[in-house]
Amino acid sequence: MNHTTCRILTIGLTILGIVFVGLGIEYHSILAVIGVAIGVTAIILSLVFLRCHHCGGSLNMRGWLDEYCRHCGEELEKEE
Ligand SMILES: [Zn+2]
Repeated sequence: MNHTTCRILTIGLTILGIVFVGLGIEYHSILAVIGVAIGVTAIILSLVFLRCHHCGGSLNMRGWLDEYCRHCGEELEKEE
């Protein structure tokens, strides 16, 4: 998984998690628990996969489409 795919996936999961937490507040607390679990999964995914393929350094989670690694300065892979 490249960093662009990972960012899209984690943002999607985060939005889904927020929706579930909202549903949990409105309807049933189990939905909020599922929402938090989805959010935690998104964080774990970004910690595991959001890394430079040159040096393994973690990339900025809040940034979008970084072109160069902030650790080694190497160009990051483009979307295939
Ligand atoms: Zn790097």
